[in-house]
Amino acid sequence: MSELQRIAFIGLGNMGLPMAANLAKAGHRITAFDSSADAITKAQAQGLAIASSAREATEGAAVVVSMLPASRHVEALYLGDGALLDILSPGTLVIDCSTIAPESAKKVGQAAAAKGLAMIDAPVSGGTAGAAAGTLTFIVGGEAAALERARPILQAMGKNIFHMGEAGAGQVAKLCNNMALGVIMAVTGEAIALGVAHGLDAKVLSQMMTVSTSRSWATEVCNPWPGVLENAPASRGYSGGFGSDLMLKDLGLAVEAAMSVGATIPLGELARNMYALNKQAGRGGLDFSSVVKLVAADS
Ligand code: NAD
Repeated sequence: MSELQRIAFIGLGNMGLPMAANLAKAGHRITAFDSSADAITKAQAQGLAIASSAREATEGAAVVVSMLPASRHVEALYLGDGALLDILSPGTLVIDCSTIAPESAKKVGQAAAAKGLAMIDAPVSGGTAGAAAGTLTFIVGGEAAALERARPILQAMGKNIFHMGEAGAGQVAKLCNNMALGVIMAVTGEAIALGVAHGLDAKVLSQMMTVSTSRSWATEVCNPWPGVLENAPASRGYSGGFGSDLMLKDLGLAVEAAMSVGATIPLGELARNMYALNKQAGRGGLDFSSVVKLVAADS
């Protein structure tokens, strides 16, 4: 059993709440905070101790874990006047699991180091199901020594840990993964729609693809066609899962990351536009597999 810690957990949304619950289950003492009353109510129902602010949550904590939507939320929490980096005791370990811009992660990581704090960016893959099951993959950037301190905490929430390099490297790797996922989901939907337009059965077509060369997470776990997989968001009106707007955010970050080094990502840019069109069609809040509706309105 790893050393049990006093942990402040900030951000109790679709991902943060099950992650914090798994830390509590492992015996860590959690004090949590979220800015949404609804999220707090759900966290209290799970027995988590709630503080009245992020600052209060960190009082006496050896570790801070954050799981927030985007760069601006993470920068607001840690940087600037009265933000967390100004009040945490030197030696505190900071783990940010949000998916944010690599530049933003680097900026916060360097500011933390300047204050004598150990910080890693540790975005995750595995979705809400992985968060609940404690099987997430952590994709880490930062000093190896900080990762070693964080390892037992990450292991209480996940199964795989990859150290990608220095601060911000975890975010770069996460964007590579999600860019590929966004493209694969869109083209899988397109392929199934083509088959259905020719009269094929979407289920049989997907079963064939799942044991053939176009096999992917999109064919076998989160199939975008309704009725193919009972537990996929597509079979419950595209509710739950990974929001289309979060995929749009990640593809926008991939485009920025590509521009910053002069890389070309033609399919990534096309996919970003497809998820932007999905948002314009009113599906930003639905699971990202709803992007299939751009090419098959009756799906
Ligand atoms: P979410 O919108 O469900 O949760 C975010 C929570 O942060 C909300 O409850 C919000 O109230 C809270 N929050 C925002 N600003 C805050 C602040 N200043 N202080 C305290 N709380 C604050 O989002 P999510 O689905 O949990 O995703 C969180 C992050 O994880 C995102 O960066 C997302 O891209 C990434 N991610 C999500 C998934 C997924 O399947 N949902 C998978 C992998 C990674």
